Amino acid sequence: GKDEVKIKEKTKISVPSNPAVYVPVDRKPEIQEARLKLPILAEEQIIMEKINENHVVLIAGETGSGKTTQVPQFLYEAGYARDGKMIGITEPRRVAAISMAKRVGEELNLSCDDVSYLIRFEGNVTPTTKIKFMTDGVLLKEVQSDFLLNKYSVIILDEAHERSVYTDILMGLLSRVVILRNKRGIPLKLIIMSATLKVEDFTENTRLFKIPPPVIKVESRQFPVTVHFNKRTNPDYLKEAYRKTCKIHTQLPDGGILIFLTGQQEVNTLVSKLRKAFPFRKVNKTIDKPDDQDKEKEDEEDELNLDRVMQKVKKKKKETPLSLPEINLDNYDVAPNDDTEMDILESDEEPDEEDWELEGMKVSNAQPLWVLPLYSVLPSREQAKVFQEPPEGCRLCVVATNVAETSLTIPGVKYVVDSGKVKTKLYDKITGVSGFAITWTSKAAADQRAGRAGRTSPGHCYRLYSSAVFNDEFEGWTVPEMQRRPVDELVLQMKSLGIQRVVNFPFPSSPDLAQLKSAEQRLTYLGALERTPKKKGDDGWVGKLTPLGEAMAKFPVAPRFAKMLCLSHQHNLMEYTITLVAALSIQELLLNDNESQNKSRNKRLCWAGQGNSKLLGDAMVLLRSVGAAEYANSCGKLEEFCSEHKIRLKGIIEARKIRIQLTNEINLLNPELNLPVDPKLKPPTDIQAKLLRQIVLSGMLDQVARKVDEPQESTVKQRPLYHTPLLDETVQVHSSSVLYKEYPEWIVYQEIYQTNKVYLRGITAIEPEWLPVFAKSLCRVGVPMEDPVPRYDPTTGLIYCHVKGTFGRRGWDLPPVEI
Ligand code: ADP
Ligand code: MG
Repeated sequence: GKDEVKIKEKTKISVPSNPAVYVPVDRKPEIQEARLKLPILAEEQIIMEKINENHVVLIAGETGSGKTTQVPQFLYEAGYARDGKMIGITEPRRVAAISMAKRVGEELNLSCDDVSYLIRFEGNVTPTTKIKFMTDGVLLKEVQSDFLLNKYSVIILDEAHERSVYTDILMGLLSRVVILRNKRGIPLKLIIMSATLKVEDFTENTRLFKIPPPVIKVESRQFPVTVHFNKRTNPDYLKEAYRKTCKIHTQLPDGGILIFLTGQQEVNTLVSKLRKAFPFRKVNKTIDKPDDQDKEKEDEEDELNLDRVMQKVKKKKKETPLSLPEINLDNYDVAPNDDTEMDILESDEEPDEEDWELEGMKVSNAQPLWVLPLYSVLPSREQAKVFQEPPEGCRLCVVATNVAETSLTIPGVKYVVDSGKVKTKLYDKITGVSGFAITWTSKAAADQRAGRAGRTSPGHCYRLYSSAVFNDEFEGWTVPEMQRRPVDELVLQMKSLGIQRVVNFPFPSSPDLAQLKSAEQRLTYLGALERTPKKKGDDGWVGKLTPLGEAMAKFPVAPRFAKMLCLSHQHNLMEYTITLVAALSIQELLLNDNESQNKSRNKRLCWAGQGNSKLLGDAMVLLRSVGAAEYANSCGKLEEFCSEHKIRLKGIIEARKIRIQLTNEINLLNPELNLPVDPKLKPPTDIQAKLLRQIVLSGMLDQVARKVDEPQESTVKQRPLYHTPLLDETVQVHSSSVLYKEYPEWIVYQEIYQTNKVYLRGITAIEPEWLPVFAKSLCRVGVPMEDPVPRYDPTTGLIYCHVKGTFGRRGWDLPPVEI
């Protein structure tokens, strides 16, 4: 129709096959030549046919087969970026979004105005953008403001095999958006791309896609890779990687080496060791060292703001005596596997200077090695070097994090050295505070890594661990993040994304349904959700986000702690609560061995103080421990302090780190708060301690316990017993609590602790009249007009009525409250 005419006029060329939509592209010959070698080019026709015939299509193909760079181009040429509509591609990693936008722009010979990227803190999208690369977090935010994603004609979810939580949620959402868009006659295509063939979670899940989407397998020319296991597993994998690389380089024929480590710091250490062992001799003058020679120029050229922020952070670090926080810039945007975050969190220690011996290897007369680092926060100009040919006479050696596993394909690799390790995001089950740990990767990921050696010729993969370790200790597949995250937090996040019926959500792999339900229940208790009838006449209900819930969703911690932070904000107590959350996310911060009992116990009692401080109880002791440790640290006496007071040194250091990280994250998310990061903390005043008791109650309202009324037999030895709503049996307060001998009538506890007996730990005393205010959702109140008789107060002109109420499942009576 009309479009056809317009296009023809504009482009003024006659076009083949489908003239209505074809958009001509003027590629450079060398680009075209490289493209033609990619396996996916042979599938262009079938891919486009399937996309035209289906709403949803899956493309599975080995890393490097050309999915990310080519499929957007197929779509562009087929006219999917016409009529003001865009082609959108999501990446779980920021580094991929940036570098792929650049590459596709180059291949299409278009400017970055047309092929752009958008990540959380930066981007170059323009009103004329045709192809938009973005992180999955960014698209998820767009869904919130435009549920039908009307700007897009097609969405590609790339790297779906990584199972990032945002990509998984997007898949569920888009499975519905596609249907709605097609009903409205403005079709949207959904393309899911995976580097592995394990796609049953997407295709065989009829809740997700009623009709299984077609899967196009891109056959790639994968050459055989011989896998070599180490006989023994050396825990120092960094040294082992060094030795192995030196051996390969000195003894084996030509071919690039790719080494997998876990983070920036390790990468930099190994890079400098390898450069020292095989110094780069200039073959001709024009080649610069792989080392960062023109730093200043790079500063100007580098588009990644993040790098600049990092440099600023680093500079500041040197200026202040107390080391400044490591900023976690992007908690919401990045997927768990983006090691940007992890790199930022790494300490900045210089690599150690110890010389690593090389069991009689002749390294001096070896060929030079062109050693390049590769990780997320590396400036993009440095990153780009891995795609270039090494200087003549040099062997390429890339030391990488798992960025090189599937996101970026490095050409010419023949040898892979695999540490088998990966940095994973771990969530504290109780606090929801996340941290990182180095663990074994999965079998599937290790095989992906091995596959990198067989792109251009037969290759070898050297695993720095034994086959027994691989068989016994590696999981088969990496568990989707969706199933590792604490459920309460996930539900709150989804609600804040506007996803109401979490239980019905078409997850690619659903978290446990019963857990989802109970999370919704707990969030309702906390006041983050409000029961709203589903439909008129239907007695089901959905939990809708309340304004409090909305505020809670902004804090990167478990909902109960988020609520405490929200309330603290109103009372200027943020710093205390942040400290408390940090301290609570450390296991066994305070040591409780028998021998030290008395001395440290007295100190703790002394810290707890009197009045409201004392009633704040174990929370107060935690606050004081962290505060005092900060002071000791500023005098350089942290170690003595910790051993004297039976505080776990590592724990206190970790608590400090978490505290600073949380403060920074909260400042970033709520810039108006402008919390000081300086970690000095005065003990709270009596009034503040009282408020803190109420704040603790507001977050722990389902963990209230009440002393058992009935007089007990053998009262002399027997400690008082408590009832909790959760347990049928009665329990005691653990002897480590500073309220152990106080027997408050009403308490909240942090945890139920089980040894041979069951105890309550982490005790704070509360007042029962606070319950209707701070734990309203668990209270039932009588009918105010009936019980008892209302009273008229002539001085105020108001009617006062007493409310009689009960609390919780046990129906504990509450003291009457005047309203
Ligand atoms: P897939 O998404 O299937 O893993 P890609 O589309 O990322 O594959 O890569 C296809 C090819 O393009 C690879 O051989 C890769 O090395 C090459 N390539 C990607 N980015 C660049 C770049 N910036 N410069 C040169 N080559 C690149
Ligand atoms: Mg890719």
